[in-house]
Amino acid sequence: MPIRKLLIANRGEIAVRIIRAAREQGIATVQVHSAADADSLAVKLADEAIEIGPAPAAKSYLNIDALLAAARQSGADAVHPGYGFLAENATFADRVAAAGLTFVGPSGDTIRLMGDKVAARRVAARAGVPTVPGSDGLIADLEAAKDVVAEIGFPVMIKAAAGGGGRGIRIAQDVSEFERLFPQASAEAQAAFGDGGLYVEKVIERARHVEVQILGDGERALHCFERECSLQRRRQKVWEEAPSAALSPETRSALCKSAVKLAASVNYSGAGTLEYLYDEATGAFYFIEMNTRIQVEHPVTEWVTGIDLVGEMLRIAGGRPLRLRQDQVTLRGHALEVRLNAEDPAKDFLPGPGTVSDLRLPGGPGVRFDSLLYPGYSIPPFYDSLLGKLIVWGEDRGHAISRLKSALAELEIAGLATTAPLFAALVEEEDIKEGNVHTRWLEHWLETNAAKLA
Ligand code: ADP
Ligand code: ADP
Ligand code: MG
Repeated sequence: MPIRKLLIANRGEIAVRIIRAAREQGIATVQVHSAADADSLAVKLADEAIEIGPAPAAKSYLNIDALLAAARQSGADAVHPGYGFLAENATFADRVAAAGLTFVGPSGDTIRLMGDKVAARRVAARAGVPTVPGSDGLIADLEAAKDVVAEIGFPVMIKAAAGGGGRGIRIAQDVSEFERLFPQASAEAQAAFGDGGLYVEKVIERARHVEVQILGDGERALHCFERECSLQRRRQKVWEEAPSAALSPETRSALCKSAVKLAASVNYSGAGTLEYLYDEATGAFYFIEMNTRIQVEHPVTEWVTGIDLVGEMLRIAGGRPLRLRQDQVTLRGHALEVRLNAEDPAKDFLPGPGTVSDLRLPGGPGVRFDSLLYPGYSIPPFYDSLLGKLIVWGEDRGHAISRLKSALAELEIAGLATTAPLFAALVEEEDIKEGNVHTRWLEHWLETNAAKLA
């Protein structure tokens, strides 16, 4: 059944993005919010707003009972979870469905399967998709872990099965470090994710992060090509692009086909992303995890394919089959996205919310700005620091970088520190211009280039 009224169980720039997609399809919007978000842009833009609890996310955006009560009260027939918060919470998806509402995303069972990183590795292996060499399943204890580690060789990565957002990951260079980190990692995963389960992967050195966007309707899946997100700090993406500068047409085709096979093997429904590491030295790619939701960096894919991914999510959830055939999804030009966080790059990325005293947005051809900002807005200190994303399109990668540079020169967010100066410095770097990067590149650069950010 097509969605008529959508409850947005999220906040920030992604809530704004979802409202826009819904409105375009004539779907009414209900924006939930915490007491701290009463004057957010999403609340202003939505048709209706409902307060669901106090500022702490545990009492509002993570409060399933309050969200379902808001859906009932407003007469919404569907719920979009956005990213973060409850977006990959299988219980939430189940409870939305049990309440007779449409969850805009895959079923609780699919989230359970693919959201557990160990289970997802097994699904990938079964579909014939290469995974990073590592443990077959969860590692029971330190003794069992040592056997696996001896087999794959150091350095190794200890990862939480329930991890996400770059958290729950440790690197051990040798046995003694491993013995020290393993119990710590387990305790931390238990505290952070309510699940202490760990697994181990070989560290792929100088890897590039490439990921494939897919769409499925439960019957059929297709890919919308790849994004590259190798520029990371603390394993969190800060700059993303489409397509990847590193892939040959043959590798691109093999990678994207593997993702479709994997998604089809679980009858995937909705938008999803399969993340991989690409080893440039050998040309091999390895599946690392699946995100069963819309991702922060989806706009770069939208720009190079012309597909409105959030719009397609709403159509699929409304029961419509995929509108496109694979051969109708084509690539045009190059898109870049940079994440603007309320953090000061000159002070080791110290988070600092504040009030937007003045705002000048960039414009012109090939420039898109998705954000939660408006002049006079006070950023609440309770949530993550993403303010928005500056996205540019160019005929090719070089053109996109020139446009990013011009757009950054136009942008002014007064009243608080943002990560914009980091990107103004990065666009001048030869490695960046040449696309000569890997997942540790930015950390190395930050160690030696602090002066460029002062
Ligand atoms: P993407 O995978 O879309 O690039 P991120 O990894 O930055 O995006 O995650 C998007 C948001 O979701 C961030 O706010 C991040 O902190 C949060 N997030 C992702 N996975 C989890 C998780 N398992 N637990 C808690 N928060 C998460
Ligand atoms: P999360 O769920 O937190 O997003 P991922 O498994 O997607 O965790 O990994 C996050 C990042 O950590 C990757 O983008 C990459 O930079 C790094 N990483 C993960 N696994 C490996 C590995 N086996 N070798 C090298 N780097 C890795
Ligand atoms: Mg990831």
